Amino acid sequence: MNEIKPGHRTWAEPYKIKSVELLKMTTREEREVAMREAGYNTFLTRSRDVYIDLLTDSGTSAMSDRQWAGLMLGDEAYSGSENFYHLEDVVREYYGYKHLVPTHQGRGAENLMSQILIKDGDYIPGNMYFTTTRLHQELAGGTFVDVIVDEAHDPDCDFPFKGNVDMGKLDALVQKVGADRVPYISLEGNVNMAGGQPFSMANLRELHTYCREHDILIMLDATRTMENAWFIREREEGYAHKSVRQILREICDLTDGCTMSAKKDALVNIGGFFTCNDDEIFKKAQNLVVVYEGLHTYGGLAGRDMEAMAQGIREAATEEHQAARIGQVRYLGENLQRAGIPIVKPIGSHAVFIDAREFLPHIDQDDYPAQALAAELFIESGIRTMERGNVSAGRDPETGKNRRPPLELVRLTIPRRVYTQAHMDVITQAVVDVYARRDQIRGLKMVYEPEYLRFFQARFEPIT
Ligand SMILES: *Cc1c(COP(=O)(O)O)cnc(C)c1O
Repeated sequence: MNEIKPGHRTWAEPYKIKSVELLKMTTREEREVAMREAGYNTFLTRSRDVYIDLLTDSGTSAMSDRQWAGLMLGDEAYSGSENFYHLEDVVREYYGYKHLVPTHQGRGAENLMSQILIKDGDYIPGNMYFTTTRLHQELAGGTFVDVIVDEAHDPDCDFPFKGNVDMGKLDALVQKVGADRVPYISLEGNVNMAGGQPFSMANLRELHTYCREHDILIMLDATRTMENAWFIREREEGYAHKSVRQILREICDLTDGCTMSAKKDALVNIGGFFTCNDDEIFKKAQNLVVVYEGLHTYGGLAGRDMEAMAQGIREAATEEHQAARIGQVRYLGENLQRAGIPIVKPIGSHAVFIDAREFLPHIDQDDYPAQALAAELFIESGIRTMERGNVSAGRDPETGKNRRPPLELVRLTIPRRVYTQAHMDVITQAVVDVYARRDQIRGLKMVYEPEYLRFFQARFEPIT
């Protein structure tokens, strides 16, 4: 329970519920069959078999009445839709970049950016990888290099800015390969794979100075940067009195452009964009978007989608929204911690990450403990989560071996404005029940492995 003490208001949802979707509970037998049929991969389960869906916070947010009303204002013209200009105004106002190219979702923007900025043999430093981001860099001929601070790889370390760039690692790369082989640094605001961890403004300022000196662009992955802004407000000296909106602008003003999955921060079910300040890069993006996504004023989206996105950005860039969003995730994380469940510290913004390595110390990483735990949680309770460990990390292109990342995690991702505090309690109970019988859980063997982003479609069988 949230602590109630005089003079202190706890967070509460800054909305009331107008429409609901009924949930369905299944039996354990039904879930065992469903998991077997899904090859022990939660991505392959059907949502009709799911009770509480914590697979992702991507495109699973609840829209507001104003967003739904915005859908009716869709100007479904092939070119020059009013909704595009509306979105452009909002993106300029909240993010501050000069140019906007809409895309169907984040990876569409990543494709454009990677094709435009990366030449064969380039190196792309980043504060930890994201699956689709790194793949697009590699497909464009680049090599990703992780330059996040060491603290980010240690689930027990409670450093408040685990999303920071290690300037020493970045400089070592630049010294080794030369600045002209490093077109940009890929900077993620609130690092998903590290557990939803922010960078600090001080770190970004230092990065900005360094990159200006070496003529390296800073391209932001803005997907969860409003959540990063909230953490800066909460944790960094001098920011307690600034708004989320002001901090977001300050971050963007120190960068040269962004890719965005609007399915996260921006509270929509589909959408994304690429932005930049440079006129030449913009021209190339405007040209390339017609190849992959659609005309430059819709980029694979309907007019109504752009309208809902514009409204979602306004609603998300507020203290009330972020306090409730992050407050709910923290509530779940603290409950789990109190029950003795090993989770990544500090609790992040969009999810609680269970440390599967510690939860299942008897399972070797090549027998995929996080994958096995996600399957087990589903069978126990119908709660659908996601592996973020050895399966997600894929194989090293040089050696062909599993990457065996330091973090072997199960992500309990909380959709925005969807579940209640009582659901958080049910989730805690389910995890505790699985923890009690953790000794009986066995590892998995991969029996089908797709070439790209294997975690989405890989199939497994229990090891006997
Ligand atoms: C989801 C996500 C993406 C990719 O966006 P899609 O909309 O899923 O294509 C990129 N970066 C981060 C950090 C993400 O969380």
